[in-house]
Parts: sequence; C-alpha cells; structure tokens
Amino acid sequence: MPHNDNLTTDRPTFVSHLECAMTGERYEADQLHGLSRVGRPLLVRYDLEGVKAALTPEMLAARPADLWKYRELLPVRQTANIVSLGETATPIVPLERERGNVWVKDEGRLPTGSFKARGLVMAIAMAKELRITTIAMPTNGNAGAAAAAYAALAGIEAVIFCPDDTPEINVREIAAQGARVYRVNGLIDDCGKLVGAGKEARGWFDLSTLKEPYRIEGKKTMGLELAEQLGWELPDAIFYPTGGGTGLIGMWKAFDEMEALGWIGSKRPRMYAVQAEGCAPIVRAFDAGERHAVRWEDAHTVAAGIRVPQAVGDFLILDAVRASGGKALAVSDAALVQAVEDAGKKDGLLLCPEGGATLAAYRDALASGLADAEEKVVLFNCATGLKYPLADQSRFLDRHAPVDWAGL
Ligand SMILES: *Cc1c(COP(=O)(O)O)cnc(C)c1O
Repeated sequence: MPHNDNLTTDRPTFVSHLECAMTGERYEADQLHGLSRVGRPLLVRYDLEGVKAALTPEMLAARPADLWKYRELLPVRQTANIVSLGETATPIVPLERERGNVWVKDEGRLPTGSFKARGLVMAIAMAKELRITTIAMPTNGNAGAAAAAYAALAGIEAVIFCPDDTPEINVREIAAQGARVYRVNGLIDDCGKLVGAGKEARGWFDLSTLKEPYRIEGKKTMGLELAEQLGWELPDAIFYPTGGGTGLIGMWKAFDEMEALGWIGSKRPRMYAVQAEGCAPIVRAFDAGERHAVRWEDAHTVAAGIRVPQAVGDFLILDAVRASGGKALAVSDAALVQAVEDAGKKDGLLLCPEGGATLAAYRDALASGLADAEEKVVLFNCATGLKYPLADQSRFLDRHAPVDWAGL
C-alpha cells in the first residue's frame, strides 16, 4: 500500500455522543445503533472545542488529499479499522461552454465510480470497529457496489437487494466485489423492507441510507473538501441530486461544524435539492410547505440514483433547503438527458444522469431568475457517466469498399 499519513498516523478522536436528529435525545458512542427510538436518523456529535485545539486549516493543507485527512471530524477511533481503496479528493471542473459561472464537483473519480464510496467507506469501517459480521442493504446500484467493495476489504459479509431494473453494470459489479446480490421485483423501499425483515430473521446489520449513523459522516466530507478546495469560501449555490439526501444533509452538517471551528463564516450556499419529475417527493413536500414527504407512487426516471420514493431523512433535507434559502426542483428525464449530452459534447465531461439533472435544474434556475449568471454555482456529479448505458452513436465503415473521404 502507498504510504499515506492520513491512514497510518494514530490521531486523537473526538466523538462525544450520538443524537436523534428529530428529538435531540442522546445516545452513547461506541455502541451499535440503527435508527433512534422514534425511528429517525442519529447524528454523530463531536467535541468541537477539542477538534479546534487539535486541528487547523494549515495542518489540513499539509496532509495527503483524501477523505481521511479529516480524521478528527470522523467517527473511526482505531486506525486498524480504517478500510481504504484510495478515497481521493475530487476535482471541481468548470463547464466553460455553459452560460453562467458553473462548476461540477466530479465525484465519479472515487473508488467504485461514485460518491457512495464516501458514505460506505465510513459505514463499513465503523461496522468493523463495532464487530459486525454481516451487513445488508437495499440499493439502486451505486451504494450496493460501494458497500460490496469495502465489505470485501473488511472481511464482512454483504447481502444486497436491488430493484430488478437496476443498471446491469451495477448488479454485476456488486457480485464481482464479493457480495450476494438479489434482484427484487419492486422499488428501493420494497428492497428496504426485505432488509428489515432479514435483520429480524438473520441478525443482519441494516446499512440502509440514514438507518445507521455513519454514512452521513462519510458524505459530510464533500462539504469539508469543497470548502477547503475553495479557500474556505463556500459557493453561492449548490445543486444536489437528491434521493435519500445523505449528501445534502451531510454537507449541511459539515458547514455548521466548520463554522463552530472558525474555519468558515456564517455564509451558506443556497441548497437546491434536485429530483426527477417522475419521482419528486421532496419537491412536492417543499411546495406544500410540509416537513415530511409522502411516498411517491409509481416512481420512474432514468436517473436510478434519485429514484427514491420515500426518505427517512426527509425533514433534514427540507429543513436544510429551507434554512439555506434554496428550493427543491424537479426536472424532466428529457431535460436531464439533454444536459448529459451537452456537457459531454461541448465540455468533454461525461455526467451521470443524476448529474445531468443538476445541470438541467441550474439551466431552469437561470431562466426563471432563481440564480443569476454571475454567481458561483457548484453542481454535484455523483457518479461516473461510464456506469450507465450510453446510446450507440457510431457509424459503420466498410474498409473494403471505396471510402467517401469528403463525406467523413
Ligand atoms: C445515490 C445517488 C444519488 C443520491 O444521493 P443521496 O445522497 O442518497 O440523495 C445521486 N446520484 C447518484 C449517482 C447516486 O448514486
């Protein structure tokens, strides 16, 4: 393994306790937890005064550029429990041919080709720390792939359930990384119910989005990394493709922690939660002024990663979006597919469909005046476009026939 100080140095850890995101009830750290007593996500809390005394932005700048550099703000206690496939810092790439001042944080560069690696590397490291032997999870594809990879590395058994129309590459990749994978005739929340039942029947640990406390902490590093890369000055707006919302919730938590540490001020980006018109429970709840979202029936969209009919963290997403002055926005599949095509053909950046959704939403926001072209905006492309079926746009050439050079 290449030498990486982030992995080999034993640093003090600062987790103080866990807290129910809904009621604030305290839970002890270093014990196995799923949801809180009221069935809501648990958030990890830190001794931020302690972190402030131990860690400065200057120290961070000197460390290797990966997720583990933020170790003092992460839950893993023992270095021996860290699993890693090289969770590199991801670049922020400008879309120069696009109108406006818009940048893409390209999470497709992470291990297993998606930002699910950030959440799952943390959840699996903590599963190892808490001596879990078998994990189970529902997935639309990318989370299952990341879970499988890190579970293999940690020597933990993984059982994964995905909707039967999950992108083929994801299903195969999950199995190739050592997990047992089942295709289920239902949606992701139906798969989640199977995991819940299997938890009772087999004692599996449920690694579903937000149903254990640590995936958020991994996703939080997107917020830490973004701030550090932008010189501790957050952008004016963030467009985030929202399924379970872990990343949006995690970044929002990171912003508060960084402010408490004195690394950033009180300025926050407007957070735009982007969904597909065929599955937009958060948008519907936002527009209705509700704090919880009702399940979206007959969910459909080509952007599999955001086809999540119901999210346990709905209120955390909606609270953050509202507090930031942002909005929840829906785009059509036609618009997101067009955005993927444009970014690839004009700017050379192959987005995933969910990333395309953020670009489509940004274009709408410019057109409607929600955003203006001068503002600095960051879109999240959460997986590599290479994981999705691409249209065949090639032409055939018969090398034995005369070639019409003028027509090529
Ligand atoms: C999972 C996923 C999302 C949604 O992420 P959440 O944080 O769960 O809302 C978006 N895009 C891609 C590519 C994904 O795999």
